[in-house]
Amino acid sequence: MDLVRISHLFHHFNRIGEDGSVVGKVQSLQDVSLSISPGEFVAILGHNGSGKSTLARHINALLLPSSGQVEVDGMQTTSQEQVLLIRQNAGMVFQNPDNQMIANVVEEEVAFGPENLGMDPYQMHIRVEQCLARVGMTAYRLHAPSKLSGGQKQRVSIASVLAMKPKCIILDEPTAMLDPNGRKEVIDTLHELCSVDGISILLITHYMEETVSADRVIVMDEGKIALQGTPKEVFSQVQKLRELRLDVPVATLLAWELRKEGLPIKDGILTKEELVSQLRDLL
Ligand code: ADP
Repeated sequence: MDLVRISHLFHHFNRIGEDGSVVGKVQSLQDVSLSISPGEFVAILGHNGSGKSTLARHINALLLPSSGQVEVDGMQTTSQEQVLLIRQNAGMVFQNPDNQMIANVVEEEVAFGPENLGMDPYQMHIRVEQCLARVGMTAYRLHAPSKLSGGQKQRVSIASVLAMKPKCIILDEPTAMLDPNGRKEVIDTLHELCSVDGISILLITHYMEETVSADRVIVMDEGKIALQGTPKEVFSQVQKLRELRLDVPVATLLAWELRKEGLPIKDGILTKEELVSQLRDLL
């Protein structure tokens, strides 16, 4: 069964005038249908304002459909009684880790969710230890979150979400504020949670390189899904991606330029290593 099933989702925000009255509508999602399987790693790309965050917030029931349906693990996001369960099942991590941290000590931060669920302290201690271990942050459990690097903070945010035993984690540009090392730490952690624990990942990102190892890439434009497929399928459409004002990975772009010049290079090159190997074969 699909873990997330979105059918014909439309969302509009009201445009508010200077006097506070509604003066129009901003149509931010238009007829989006999409399913995510258990254990699938899905990356979402798209220009600013294309509707990515709006879509992510629907899966976590932070927004409700103007029309259409969003179902998480068989539960409709419009069902008031199931909202808490939906948020447990589909945890969310945002761009700025500082906005999500509330505790003064890492382990308290991770314990916050289970504590609110009324979990027994011993069980909670075990859960916190397990979650910190899963993101490689055990050694920092007594540290102050404010003293951690950006990548470490985001890993603590992921551990806090993990503490709720989610089936899916939605991340809205979690690496936007991180340096390259921090970005790698976070992306590697996500892949491990996906492949080892079978947690579905929905990653919104601006960095093409972070999407090349996803199972599926979805490109949004003007509130609609403009392209989707495996990274190879999506990134082989260089022209279309450029029309959608998106960059493509450098190796993909170089392969495309060389092919245009007549070199018999395959479609769908994603990494420097693949390009080097192709060029070596040609020589
Ligand atoms: P993205 O995440 O791809 O940058 P968003 O989902 O944030 O896109 O935005 C999609 C559209 O909805 C944009 O036109 C944006 O201006 C509009 N929008 C987003 N949030 C609000 C809001 N709270 N009120 C009004 N319009 C909004």
